[in-house]
Amino acid sequence: MGLPKISYREAKQGWIHVINNNQDNDFYICGSCGYAMGGHPKVISPAHIRPWTSDQRCSNSRLDKRGLGYRYRTDVLELRLPQEYLDKLGLHSPDGYHALWLSVLYALVNGACQALDIDERDLGGCLYYSQKSHPSLVLFDTAPGGAGFVHEIREHFTEVMNKAMELLDCKSCGEDSSCIACLRTYFNQRDHNRLRRGWAKKYLSALF
Ligand SMILES: [Zn+2]
Ligand SMILES: [Zn+2]
Repeated sequence: MGLPKISYREAKQGWIHVINNNQDNDFYICGSCGYAMGGHPKVISPAHIRPWTSDQRCSNSRLDKRGLGYRYRTDVLELRLPQEYLDKLGLHSPDGYHALWLSVLYALVNGACQALDIDERDLGGCLYYSQKSHPSLVLFDTAPGGAGFVHEIREHFTEVMNKAMELLDCKSCGEDSSCIACLRTYFNQRDHNRLRRGWAKKYLSALF
């Protein structure tokens, strides 16, 4: 891949699980009739009317807490970046590390889209925590079955990395922040407040 400090695995048909946990509030579901509602457990009343009826009370009053999701197979590229440069960043909390990895992830995702002319709808990214504090970065084709984009990324990784570094040098926002010219996109809205390009820039510069 051209960067010996980064190890990777590429899978032609990896599983991607898309899970909606209702912004950490989960969903509450009746195992008997399928009734479902989202919300905070304190404000949920378990008595309910059966779906598709207007007035039939369900006899089951226990709702199970669940996230809702689906999975599909697609092309996946998993990157493991080294731990050794992290202490230079002065991060102390798990939130700080999480913010760093998200920032690195989106620098690479957006860098790949720009360097290889990939539509940002076609490339997804997420963090995969198999160990507690040090996640892998996972890039995947959002089209079920895969469209070959992550393979392109692996083949042209140096160009992707260079574009990512260019983005992290953004002139439109502060280093402790991010903006739509660098890391923020429509698709990572829920992470906007966590993205800090300065940390990602420092970390990735140390890799070269
Ligand atoms: Zn029910
Ligand atoms: Zn910016």
